[in-house]
Amino acid sequence: MLIRSFTLFDTSGWQWPHFSPRELSCKCGGRLCDGEYWHDPEFLDALETLRSAVGQPLVINSGHRCALWNTHVGGAAHSMHRQIAVDIALAGHDRFALLDAAEQGGFTGIGFGRHFLHLDRRGKPARWYYSGSKALWER
Ligand SMILES: [Zn+2]
Ligand SMILES: [Zn+2]
Repeated sequence: MLIRSFTLFDTSGWQWPHFSPRELSCKCGGRLCDGEYWHDPEFLDALETLRSAVGQPLVINSGHRCALWNTHVGGAAHSMHRQIAVDIALAGHDRFALLDAAEQGGFTGIGFGRHFLHLDRRGKPARWYYSGSKALWER
């Protein structure tokens, strides 16, 4: 569900203590939208499960993206970031532990970056490497 601004979202029933609408909202910083946010309880459940499994904070480099920001950062036209997807910073994580936990937690779209792991919950599973990342993800 698209919310025009995370500031408009009623968080009184918020059930995901390690995440907030703000950090999952568009990172254009108010330049291109009012802080669009995509609310998906099942996605948030999966994120909390992942957070518990890895036992460390998850830093979200990119969450929902407004159309203009998605274009600006070079996202695919039908990127899952137009709804909800996350790019999680790898710094401080065992990348393979993060990957294993993400797979077990029901994330089906997995993009391997050099500095981040992209995760989404698309219907048809997919995996891909971003430029220059493949060697880093060989076990
Ligand atoms: Zn935006
Ligand atoms: Zn991504």
